[in-house]
Amino acid sequence: MYSMQPSTTNRFSQFPLTRLQCNSSARRHCPPKTHLSELQKGLLDWFAEHKRPLPWRASYTPYEVWISEIMLQQTQMERGVQYFKRWMTRFPDVRSLAAASEDEVLRLWEGLGYYSRARHILAAARHIVQEHKGRFPSDLAAIRALPGVGPYTAGAIASIAFGKKLPCVDANVERVLARILNIDTPVKQEPAASNIRETALKLVPEGKAREHNQAIMELGALVCARIPRCDRCPVSVYCISNYEGLTDKRPVPGKKIAVKPFVVATGVLLHRGRIFVQKRHIGRVWGNLWEFPGGKVNEGENAKTAVVRKFLEETGFAVYTAQEYGIIRHSYTTYKITMHCFGVELKNPPCLTDSLPPPPLLTAACAWQWADPAAIETLPMPAPHRKLAQQIFATSEQQCLN
Ligand code: SF4
Repeated sequence: MYSMQPSTTNRFSQFPLTRLQCNSSARRHCPPKTHLSELQKGLLDWFAEHKRPLPWRASYTPYEVWISEIMLQQTQMERGVQYFKRWMTRFPDVRSLAAASEDEVLRLWEGLGYYSRARHILAAARHIVQEHKGRFPSDLAAIRALPGVGPYTAGAIASIAFGKKLPCVDANVERVLARILNIDTPVKQEPAASNIRETALKLVPEGKAREHNQAIMELGALVCARIPRCDRCPVSVYCISNYEGLTDKRPVPGKKIAVKPFVVATGVLLHRGRIFVQKRHIGRVWGNLWEFPGGKVNEGENAKTAVVRKFLEETGFAVYTAQEYGIIRHSYTTYKITMHCFGVELKNPPCLTDSLPPPPLLTAACAWQWADPAAIETLPMPAPHRKLAQQIFATSEQQCLN
């Protein structure tokens, strides 16, 4: 178990963690526990000079801080900034967001994944309009009560937008503190998780929560990255793992989650110039997104047979495969999807030339429509289905935009 006190097994046990050691000329090291204020100052000075000019840092409105924090979870910064700018153009404030349809919000979120976050953002915006007259709440309990706002996001909004003395512990902060403190157990598990949270709170300087929290996250992103650049680090002198030569061993990795391969078959049913799409159930992966029907290819089954079978099971439509569109590969959280794509046609189309088939018997979706190819562009879809739609229907202009 890690402790900020010297352990009996590491070399600090032979050297009390004192200022004397910090001032030693042979190899300077200032133990973090006894140099908190210097460590804070090192971070703040470095941030003042090196912070990136990110769009939400212009005015730090609670709305912008909130959206940026949710968007940046599981998203690269460059991509997050692009999405953020596009979002703010369409939804510049809580009221404009609250008035939007879920389809529009999901469409704007498309490509960021974890779609429950977008649905929660919309629910939270409506809650703010109804319960707080459109003003973002500053009270921590009220922020925490917003849909989709967990302890991390609440701390980030309260500290960065409102200056409250709270820590923000994201993956960057976990990595930085695991190295500075030389934590030798996985950071997401106890006892390391509590140690990190407690130290992160102790480190927040009075009146400087906004700058400090961003400084330590920025250090994790720019300097103390997966491969740390300790020679450029403003707090290297306080870093135990740097002193111990263990930076490549910290943080200790947790259990690796196995990636599951999935082979699926999907069919695009085109009839009288319209395309059949269905809306996925809310409780499932990609909930409330529109898709072309299809599903898992069983062992020993070929993809063509699977798409015909899945169409019948999910919609009641008997179809045959008329075209092969190839394979789309996509990785999503812990899934690696290989999607075989087909154009399918109805085996028994209605006789009248301008009529559509009878309503489907949905078993895997909560809504359906025969969409115009141009309307497909406005519907929120899972990434592999969007790729397929673009491959078949998008104009070259639309392809450039995505
Ligand atoms: S010295 Fe290296 S390992 Fe330690 S905090 Fe700085 S960059 Fe990270």
